[in-house]
Amino acid sequence: MNSSILIVDDSPTLRQEIIHILRQTSLFKFYYEAGDGIEGFKIALNKAVDIILCDLEMPGMDGFKFLTMMGTRDELQDIPVIMLTGRESQEAKVRALEQGASDYVTKPFDPAELIARVKVQVKIKSLQDSLKKSNEMLLKLSNTDPLTQLYNRRFLTDALEREMNRSTRNNTPVTLVMLDIDHFKKVNDTYGHQRGDLILKRVADLLLSGLREYDLASRFGGEEFALVLPETSPEQGFEAAERLRLACSELSFPDELSALKLTISLGVAAFPHPDIHTLDDLIREADYALYRAKRTGRNRVSLHGDCPSSPEHMASA
Ligand code: GH3
Ligand code: MG
Ligand code: MG
Ligand code: MG
Repeated sequence: MNSSILIVDDSPTLRQEIIHILRQTSLFKFYYEAGDGIEGFKIALNKAVDIILCDLEMPGMDGFKFLTMMGTRDELQDIPVIMLTGRESQEAKVRALEQGASDYVTKPFDPAELIARVKVQVKIKSLQDSLKKSNEMLLKLSNTDPLTQLYNRRFLTDALEREMNRSTRNNTPVTLVMLDIDHFKKVNDTYGHQRGDLILKRVADLLLSGLREYDLASRFGGEEFALVLPETSPEQGFEAAERLRLACSELSFPDELSALKLTISLGVAAFPHPDIHTLDDLIREADYALYRAKRTGRNRVSLHGDCPSSPEHMASA
């Protein structure tokens, strides 16, 4: 058990007594101590604390103020706080519970009761933690393409919409790059679908390693990928696309694939632009540009606006 507990009380003797009692269980590996609310709050912010025991009456920042401070930080919301209260203060106990405390223990406390109440909170906290982990994993799964581990199309379109809104607010451009592997059907036909999958994964890795931290790469479908480059002008987007095109054409593959020469075609469009008002406009223009790159010979980058859009060609693609 790697759990940790923070004990906030102005009496060092009481803190030691609590630690002595809790050490009889194997609930905690780490024990942190603080003499008042401020010191306790600093520890809660800087250490991984699973549960807090906090005195209600302390000089300086008392237990109520401590609860208020805990409530101001998102990352501290899930830490259960058990208040240590005096026997007489019924009203204070209720107020502490209303302010977010999970439970209270009345001083002088019975060691068995203290242990039992702490155990309940530890159990709740550990269930909450595993629920949170499962939810995070589910969220990641629902946003991720299983083969390449890139984002999926839905996540990317949502992110692109957010970036377009941000671009409007901040008056900065956002670039969308659509890219498609050239003659991938032939690659599959020559090397088999399974090796085709490995090649897709390799291209995905290349995209990830070639992008900045805040760029987004997604598998848009089949052998087609989309990249969102925030705060990037069309010219800068073109350069980024050109770098990726070159890197892809220089990829070498081992064993049976050693003869493979893989190339990609890329279409680049940026927002804001007089032709582009919506998410669909931006995707469509990047797609037209990609189509133009294909039509004019593949293994190249085409930038939206360099020649007129040509929707009528899409049908014959
Ligand atoms: P172009 O240069 O015009 O893009 O030619 P292409 O052959 O790449 O285009 P086409 O759309 O005719 O074929 C796409 C191929 O990509 C066909 C399909 O089997 C393959 N593909 C799509 N998804 C996957 C996948 O998940 N794994 C593998 N191995 N192949 C895939
Ligand atoms: Mg006190
Ligand atoms: Mg293709
Ligand atoms: Mg395709």
